Amino acid sequence: MIVLLLISANSQAYANSASIFLNGTQLSAANLSQVEIVNNKVMVPIRVVEELGYSVDWSKAEQTVTIQSKQKTITMTVNESSAQVDDRVVMLSSSLLLKGNTSFVPLRFMSEEFGLEVNWDNRIKTVYLTSNETADTQDSLEFLEEPKAEVGKSAGAGTAAGATTGSPRTGAGTAAGATTGSMSTGTTTGTGTTGSTRTDTTTGTGITGSMSTGTTTGTGTTGSMSTGTTTGTSTTGSISGTGANPATAASGADAASTLTNRRIEDIHFTDNRLTITMDQTVQPKVFAISQPDRIVLDLPGTALSDAFSVKNSAEAGVNQIEVEEEYSFASKVRYSLFDSKSSTIRIVLDLSAQADYRMSTGESIIVLELSEKTVAGAIHPDTDNARKIVVIDAGHGDQDNGTTGVSGRVEKDFNLTMALKVEELLKQEPMIDVVLTRYDDTYVTRPDRAKLANDLQADAFISIHANSVLNIPTASGTETYYYSDISKPLADMMHKHLIQATQLRDRKVKYNNYEVLRRSNMPAALLEVGFLSNAEEEALLFTEDFQDRVAQGIADAIKEYFGIV
Ligand SMILES: [Zn+2]
Repeated sequence: MIVLLLISANSQAYANSASIFLNGTQLSAANLSQVEIVNNKVMVPIRVVEELGYSVDWSKAEQTVTIQSKQKTITMTVNESSAQVDDRVVMLSSSLLLKGNTSFVPLRFMSEEFGLEVNWDNRIKTVYLTSNETADTQDSLEFLEEPKAEVGKSAGAGTAAGATTGSPRTGAGTAAGATTGSMSTGTTTGTGTTGSTRTDTTTGTGITGSMSTGTTTGTGTTGSMSTGTTTGTSTTGSISGTGANPATAASGADAASTLTNRRIEDIHFTDNRLTITMDQTVQPKVFAISQPDRIVLDLPGTALSDAFSVKNSAEAGVNQIEVEEEYSFASKVRYSLFDSKSSTIRIVLDLSAQADYRMSTGESIIVLELSEKTVAGAIHPDTDNARKIVVIDAGHGDQDNGTTGVSGRVEKDFNLTMALKVEELLKQEPMIDVVLTRYDDTYVTRPDRAKLANDLQADAFISIHANSVLNIPTASGTETYYYSDISKPLADMMHKHLIQATQLRDRKVKYNNYEVLRRSNMPAALLEVGFLSNAEEEALLFTEDFQDRVAQGIADAIKEYFGIV
């Protein structure tokens, strides 16, 4: 089990000055836009999820909120510190708060139960929510048309707003396309409301200022996610020693302002390779969009260096670099420079032919390589016969037991046993080199686990864990996590085999900001095989037969992922 990041803030009321952005759009309705801070916890109106397609019902008599979608039903009662989610009881970091006619839930709950990426920017008292999924799965065909609609609307509104608006609007359109595009590539689940919500903002305001705000936040959500990352995991992150501690929550603001100081020193494209040189390390968010084919990189907390701006005559709005190489998959590289309030630089590669991409990041450098698109159905761009390096990470170790099962058996032992079994199987594969982050009951820090894989330039990183939920003995099932878009196909493949092997409840493939995943440059997945807090599953997880099956499933998944028969 890995503890989710906790985003907290100073204990003050920001009810009048704070604002909420959902998928890049500022919520303006009075009952949606309010933020409450209770005991250092940021609380947001639960009705926000209506914008994602959930139905929200309030029973005044019972003081209960019921949220429903096709997938789940959530019930919460005012002043109670737990929520009922289907058959699970979920503890809330702050109980449901009723103020006026609005009920508030902790921001963290939004992240966990509605698949939202959340961030609280303490500097500007703003909550950013970005959906990875919606209540109802949408048909991906809908999204293929979305970018066109967006272009049309942008043009109309752009006229009203004046000359400078053209470029920012393009940026906004790209932002909308970004969400939909990554869906049409099948890497994420649908977010149907995104496009239309975004359109509301675009057409509704028609003011230059707010338009660039729209643009800013469209990408800002990505940036802010990373800001949240730093805030939440700063115990081991680059902001040293602040910790995920409410008492030092102000460091969130410091972190954010520090992070906006990152500068791009050069953007270079040659030989199908985009190289971005930075003055500091940054982990960009990268995704593909089709129709037309583009690859987008969002660099949070980043601006262009003065030297770069001068050299390239960069102006506010969208700038571009033409690619004149004959055999290039890209026709041009565009980069958007936003206003000073913004903290994200977006770089877009316009493709002249469909291409696969692979991104790697190092100290102060980001490299994105384009390669020939593999045929439909193929899983991995690598079709060469090179040996693959796979790093298997047994979670926890030594003084860090991980979670403890109901009968007292500890997660670290299960993880290690599984890793060793997977190693045994993969050692028999001539095309695979397998390396474990630990081979015995020792502790390796999370950054060091990822660093090992990065140093080896591994082709895949698999972290093995077992799950637990306090006080909910019935919680059960298997789930797989990924962080970067390049990891989604690996996570899908792992999960497919894992579910077959465990035969447990399918808790699906999920996005999460886990440190070992975030820090790994290659496709990386984290497996939560089953629940040690569930007596039945705990017993199962420590049987030899089950472990052998799961180890075989993991090995099979890795082989299929790399196309090794
Ligand atoms: Zn764990």
